Amino acid sequence: MINVSKTYLPPQDRYLAILNRAWQKGWITNNGELVQELEASLQQMLQVPHLLYGSNGTVVLQMALKSLGHAGGDIITTPYSYVATSHSVQWEGFHPVFVDIDPNTFCINPALVEAAITPRTRAILATHVYGMPCDTDVLAAIGLRYGVPVIYDGAHAFGTIWKGKNLLAYGDMSTCSFHATKIFHTVEGGCIICQQPQQHALLEGYRQFGHKGDYHYSIGINGKNSELHAAMGLAILPDMPALIEERRQLFAKYEAALSALPLQLLRPGAVEGLVWNYAYFPALFPTEAAMRQAKAALEAAHIFPRRYFYPALHNLPFYGTTASCPVADSVAARMLCLPFYNGLDAAVVEQVAAIIKAAL
Ligand SMILES: *Cc1c(COP(=O)(O)O)cnc(C)c1O
Repeated sequence: MINVSKTYLPPQDRYLAILNRAWQKGWITNNGELVQELEASLQQMLQVPHLLYGSNGTVVLQMALKSLGHAGGDIITTPYSYVATSHSVQWEGFHPVFVDIDPNTFCINPALVEAAITPRTRAILATHVYGMPCDTDVLAAIGLRYGVPVIYDGAHAFGTIWKGKNLLAYGDMSTCSFHATKIFHTVEGGCIICQQPQQHALLEGYRQFGHKGDYHYSIGINGKNSELHAAMGLAILPDMPALIEERRQLFAKYEAALSALPLQLLRPGAVEGLVWNYAYFPALFPTEAAMRQAKAALEAAHIFPRRYFYPALHNLPFYGTTASCPVADSVAARMLCLPFYNGLDAAVVEQVAAIIKAAL
């Protein structure tokens, strides 16, 4: 059976050697030495001013929204993301205002963002879909013009370099997920990056119930992560350049194998200033029927691609919205993410391409 993704596991002895440090100390959570070391390594690698490691990509998103300091109001967000993005908005008591996406990047359409700004807008929350960058320049300009913070859900963005900076360094705040299905993982985990020291202090407080010892200074939540999780990150981090290079080569194999077919594929080489992380292999089919046919044919061969993302989020009944996002609807209906992970056999790429070709 071939799934859409497969978790990369580092050499076990390397993980155990790092874990052994936690055993020696008898310290397994609450901002231990491995968590601190992972944070320092990530901060160094990403070249960001402030970074906090947290329990997962959803809780850090909730912390980011909580830190806006508003009760209620609107968050302008994308209908084309994982449900954690818009759920976090609703969970934190904001109203998600969905604006449509760009048909080529699949990220939020900045022109529509500007048109959606009202006095009730509290923030813009955009997703770097498949690790490809949003229009960060235009979104930053809109944020400045209207005094509205820009937050990025960078759950897919780890390792992407954009205009000479790490993609996670953009925005007033940026979050990442280190879930086992993501390109870099710590089993479960995530991080939040911010630009301002006061913001960092606020978020650090939120992460541990809003207190330091006997001094309680705000509300908070348990957003911490453990030494066992941090150890996994420390064990994988040195492998990241090689893992991304392997994905780059796999991407090229898929591209070549699918080149004659009527599929819209990502074209990272055509985007100036982009060094992509090769996080996913999404294929946009000409019609939903064609996508379904290809998916069924692959499944018959025990190959399980995934509709990611489907459905477009504005269609979910939980948000009380009647937004219309035809581009997101069209993309969500036709998109299929093909199996793409470190260790995927090149022969499977050929097999997937042949099955899709026959189905079309
Ligand atoms: C995976 C993902 C999340 C959630 O991250 P978790 O670590 O699983 O909580 C949020 N947003 C996007 C776009 C994701 O892909």
